[in-house]
Amino acid sequence: MVVFKDEKWIDKCPICTTDRYFSPDMKFLVNLECYHRMCESCVDRIFGSGPALCPYQNCGKTLKKRQFKEQIFDDINIEKEVDIRRRVCKIFNKTESDFKKPGEYDLYLEKIEDMVYNLTNEIDVEKTEEELLKYEEANRGLININNDRVKQNLIKFQQKQEMEKNLREQKRKLKEESLLEQQEDELYYEKEVKRKLLDSASDVPAEKIINQLKFEFEQRTEMRKKKLDESIKALTSQLTNSDIEKDKNKKVTTPFTPYDGDKDLEFKFTLNDSYDDFATNNAKNNPAYLAGGWRVEQVYERALQQAFIGIGCFIDEKVVLSSQGIESF
Ligand SMILES: [Zn+2]
Ligand SMILES: [Zn+2]
Repeated sequence: MVVFKDEKWIDKCPICTTDRYFSPDMKFLVNLECYHRMCESCVDRIFGSGPALCPYQNCGKTLKKRQFKEQIFDDINIEKEVDIRRRVCKIFNKTESDFKKPGEYDLYLEKIEDMVYNLTNEIDVEKTEEELLKYEEANRGLININNDRVKQNLIKFQQKQEMEKNLREQKRKLKEESLLEQQEDELYYEKEVKRKLLDSASDVPAEKIINQLKFEFEQRTEMRKKKLDESIKALTSQLTNSDIEKDKNKKVTTPFTPYDGDKDLEFKFTLNDSYDDFATNNAKNNPAYLAGGWRVEQVYERALQQAFIGIGCFIDEKVVLSSQGIESF
């Protein structure tokens, strides 16, 4: 058992004392139960063969390897608050338009802040968790609809960004091509001026030759600019229209299926490390199976997925979303 203050050990694993200075690839992990940090190899060593006690003194929590995640923020309190906020806001996910009276939304936001503060600082944890659970049960339908809306908006935003990126890339190419043509033209007219001036058979005055070629060159430059502007305009409207067209077609042609024909990726079960299963008990440690890449965990996961599939899928809500043209995943 160890007791170390996190601040002093910002770059060292408090369990094995490995220093990040000497192992730059070292990753720190935290678990969602007690947020005690340790390095990835300590997690592998301590929790690799099943649940075990947290090695921090006075912690006493039993942890599983699966509960660990990479530490993103240096400050563990921020890490914890961000996770808690994400969890609370996934349940308390109403938007301003869900409220009719002024001020109600502010009270709602204040409520969220109180809950996040309490859970982060371990004040009235049981009461707050209970409140969260009650709210979730009472508002499940609306919560799902709002979460789907958030996901949908995010997808639309990403698609728009992707489209703008494509547009910028194609514009850049067009400009590059045009610039290259311009440079080739400049070289050509430079040579042409010299060739015509040195032509002994010609009796056209030098000034006239230069003016004539200059005029031609300027005309071509002007035409090129116009062509570039038109191509960019056409490209912009083509991409914008195709996006709108795509949206329209989607609404008309996509038949309704829950999860749009996909499966629910948020599993409604907790996968244990091991099960007493007569069908796989003998096989799970058999080198003949393991050598071929077979793992018993995959069997457990697939069996549970098939058993739980469809649970938590509320067809009525999905139909409503689908009729509004909102995809739900
Ligand atoms: Zn360590
Ligand atoms: Zn702990």
